[in-house]
Amino acid sequence: MLIMKFGGTSVGSAERMKAVVKLLPDDRPVIAVLSAMSGTTNALIQICNLLKSREDGAAILAIEALESLYREENKSLLTNEPARESLSTIIHSRFTFLKSLKSSEFTEQTSKEVVALGELMSTAMFHALLTDSGHSAALMNALDFMRIDGNGEPDLEATEGFLRLLLDANQPCRLFVTQGFICRNEFGAIDNLQRGGSDYTASIIGGVLGADEIQIWTDIDGMHNNDPRIVEGTRPVHRLSFEEAAELAYFGAKILHPKTIHPARIANVPVMLKNTLEPEAPGTIITAESAGTGIKAIAAKDGITAIKIKSDRMLLAYGFLRRVFEVFEAYRTPIDMIATSEVAVSLTIDNDNHLDNIKNDLSKFGSIETEKDQTIICLVGDLVADSKGIAAKVFDALRHTPIRMVSYGGSKHNISLLVKTENKNEALRALHQSFFS
Ligand code: ASP
Ligand code: MG
Repeated sequence: MLIMKFGGTSVGSAERMKAVVKLLPDDRPVIAVLSAMSGTTNALIQICNLLKSREDGAAILAIEALESLYREENKSLLTNEPARESLSTIIHSRFTFLKSLKSSEFTEQTSKEVVALGELMSTAMFHALLTDSGHSAALMNALDFMRIDGNGEPDLEATEGFLRLLLDANQPCRLFVTQGFICRNEFGAIDNLQRGGSDYTASIIGGVLGADEIQIWTDIDGMHNNDPRIVEGTRPVHRLSFEEAAELAYFGAKILHPKTIHPARIANVPVMLKNTLEPEAPGTIITAESAGTGIKAIAAKDGITAIKIKSDRMLLAYGFLRRVFEVFEAYRTPIDMIATSEVAVSLTIDNDNHLDNIKNDLSKFGSIETEKDQTIICLVGDLVADSKGIAAKVFDALRHTPIRMVSYGGSKHNISLLVKTENKNEALRALHQSFFS
């Protein structure tokens, strides 16, 4: 079984969907996992925000604008008139639902149902296109098999069970289409895997089925060795280990949802990152084996807050860090970087929703300082055999950049540095110059 995930731009128009059909191999069973057409999820979120702020009129206008876009694409998608009719009935019913929403009755649950429409529509269109072009394909609704638990984590057992039932029920079909991103929660209500979650869907499916391969198709030729929007002359990295790719995805490489690697790694299923615009390009292949040593790529994650706790009580004390960590646990806020000295500990978080409460609870341990607008720069590679001199090279490249924190040795795959976001671009360019030019 091959899992192929196509992102929003890859299915962003009738024309792009037709190009995707050509990429489907016919020598093995395939599950195609689709994102919403590019721009749709953002448009749906905007519609939710308008309804939340009780701007019903503006919401209707936004819904109509989106509807006319879909009507246009559908005109050129199918050749056969009855198929076009039946697809437009499906799309029309989705928009009728949207237009029926009233701000006075709008809830968080409604907004999850609204954002789910993007993937439901793109897959309905793609499935109709496949049928129209003579493929026999089954449309599986992700809401019938993808489950998350009370912590928002995938319920792999339930997902696998439902999915296998659906695959069996559709025997002998060898081509399946399903939605990325959307799922049901522990109450059976419509939910999702967070923004960009279609990648995660693909790897959960690939992992639970023990697929041969998970392919993530986007509009860039693999994971680059630095951020191409900021640094000139970046190159795709051809091979990465699961660990290296996970670090890069987590620390800012936008091409992959940060949790994608995990299900693939547990099941040892290779992940390929491929470019729909250049299908022949090798892209990036991610497997259990590491390929080569040294720094392979650099990524940056913005929106970081640094928290410093200074306390005399830390001196020679045990249990201090545990109590500090418990505060973050209580507010379900993950910590990214940590640096300690005998009298202080600094750490970083990227979710500051509970920052005031966290500061308040931490203040019983000592004095607290926080700094917002920080960026984690992360250098990823295999640092074991080749580690001599790397730290010196990093610090030398950044000799003009103030560095707030450093994390080195936490894993053999990662060096992380915390800098002010305003210094990020110059830091990324300097590091690129020194490692990759
Ligand atoms: N459509 C969702 C989003 O835009 C999920 C995805 O594309 O991966 O976030
Ligand atoms: Mg994405």
